[in-house]
Amino acid sequence: MNFIQTRGIDPAYPSTVTFSEAILSPIASYGGLYVPENLPNLGLEFLNKHLGSSYKDLAFDLLKKFEIDIDANVILEALDLYDNFDNKNNPVPVVKVKDNLYVSELYHGPTRAFKDMALQPFGRILSSVAQKKNENYLILAATSGDTGPAALETFKNQKNIQMVCIYPANGTSDVQRLQMVTEDAKNLKVIGINGNFDDAQAALKSLLASKSFNDTLKEKNISLSAANSVNFGRIIFQIIYHIHSYLELVRHNAIEMGEKIYINVPSGNFGNILGAFYAKEMGLPVEKLVVSSNKNNILTRFIKTGVYDIKDDELILTTSPAMDILKSSNVERVLFSLYGADRTKELMSDLDNNSKYELTKDELEKLQEIFIADFCDDEEGKHYIKSVFDEGYLMDPHTATCLKAYETVCDPKIKSIVYSTAEWTKFSPVIANALTGEIDTRDLDALSSISREAKVEIPQMIKDLFTKEVTQKTVIEKTDIEKSILNFL
Ligand SMILES: *Cc1c(COP(=O)(O)O)cnc(C)c1O
Repeated sequence: MNFIQTRGIDPAYPSTVTFSEAILSPIASYGGLYVPENLPNLGLEFLNKHLGSSYKDLAFDLLKKFEIDIDANVILEALDLYDNFDNKNNPVPVVKVKDNLYVSELYHGPTRAFKDMALQPFGRILSSVAQKKNENYLILAATSGDTGPAALETFKNQKNIQMVCIYPANGTSDVQRLQMVTEDAKNLKVIGINGNFDDAQAALKSLLASKSFNDTLKEKNISLSAANSVNFGRIIFQIIYHIHSYLELVRHNAIEMGEKIYINVPSGNFGNILGAFYAKEMGLPVEKLVVSSNKNNILTRFIKTGVYDIKDDELILTTSPAMDILKSSNVERVLFSLYGADRTKELMSDLDNNSKYELTKDELEKLQEIFIADFCDDEEGKHYIKSVFDEGYLMDPHTATCLKAYETVCDPKIKSIVYSTAEWTKFSPVIANALTGEIDTRDLDALSSISREAKVEIPQMIKDLFTKEVTQKTVIEKTDIEKSILNFL
C-alpha cells in the first residue's frame, strides 16, 4: 500500500510514497503528514478469526493487510520484541476495575510507558530500512520524559542508526532521567541541558536549520530522521492493541462479539487515539472514542465546539506532563479522513497563521459522531487516583484523567476501556501525594511509600536504576549542543 499526503501534493514531491519512505522522512508536502491511501476493511470476520490468536499473530495478520514494503521476516523480528514484555503471551493485559470499566495496560514494556508499544518494533524496522538502503541515519529527539527512554531503548545497538536525545536536566522525573543517563550503548548520546523542555525543542529546531551542522552531516554521509509521534511507523503499531483489547473483552465474556464499547484514551499529541480511530474506521465496533485531556484542554474545547483556538493559551505544567500540549499534531490525520486534503490544508494554514481554525456546523457534526471529550485538572486527577485505589486499582496520573470523562460524558450502561499509558513507578511522587498526602517526595521515597501503601513490589528494573552506573554525564548550556553532537559523531 502507498501513502498519500494530508495537505495535498506540492509538485516538488512525488504524489505517493512507500511505507519505508514515509517513515524515513515523515513530513509531507506543505508541512503535512503521510496517511495510508486506503484502510483495510476488517469486519467481524477478522475479529472472529483472531479470537484465539496471540498478540503477535493478530499483529502480523493486521500488518499484512496494510501491504507495507517491509519483508515478512523483519516484521516478525520486530514483533518478537513484545516477548520482552512482562507476559510474553499477553503484552497488553486488560483488567477489570468495576462493573463496566476495564483498563487496558500499555505499560508492560522495558521503559514502563505506552511509548514502548510502538517504539520497540519501530526501531527494528527503521534500522532494517536503513541497512537495506545502505545509509546511516541520525535520529535526533528532544524529550520531556517518556519518549526519550523508549527511543533510546529501541535504537540501542541498532545497525546504521545513531541517536542523540536532548532532555531538560531538571525537568523530568528521577526515574525518567535515570532511564536515559544509564544507557551505555556506543550509538547513543544523551544530553542534558540547563533549561526546560521548550528550550530543548527550540535548540533541536535551530540545529536542524543550521547549515554548518547539515554540511557536516553530509560530509560524514549521515542522513537525518525522526522518531516522533507523527511517524506512521509508530501509528501503525498503535492500531493493533485497540483491536486486541476489544478481543480481550470478548474473551473475558465482558461483551458479545459486535457489541459497541467506549475507547477512552489519555491524549496529548493524539497518536494513541488516532490508532483507535483507524481501528474504528476499519470496522472495530466502537460507540464513541473518548478523548481525555488534562488542564491543557484544547482537545476538549475542539471536540465540543469545533473551534481549535490556541491564540490566548499558554501551556500549563500539570501532573500528567506527557499530555501537556497545545498543538496536537495527529489531529490533522482525522481532519484529512473526514474532510479531505484541500480542507485540511486550509485549516492547518489557519492554525499556522492565526493559531486558530474553525469547523463548519456540518463538519463538527461529523466529528462528534465519532469523538466525545472532557478534561480533568490535577486536583480532580488526584481524587480519581485515590478513589480508584480504594476500589483496588493503582493508576498513574495520565490514566486517571480518563475517569472524569468516564463519569461525565459516557453512558454507564455501555462498557468502557480506559487505556493506561504509564506504570505507577514513572510518576510516583504524584501518586504518593494522592494516596498519603505527602508532598515534594523524590521518586525513591515515593516508590517506597506507594509500595507499602498498596502492597506492591517495586519492579526490579526500576530498583536497579538507582544503583546503575551513570554513563551519560553530559549536561551543558543549550548553545553548546551542536558542538557536543559533532564530537559524538
Ligand atoms: C505520550 C503519552 C501520552 C499521550 O499520548 P499521545 O499519543 O501523544 O496522545 C499519554 N500518557 C503517557 C504516559 C505518555 O507517555
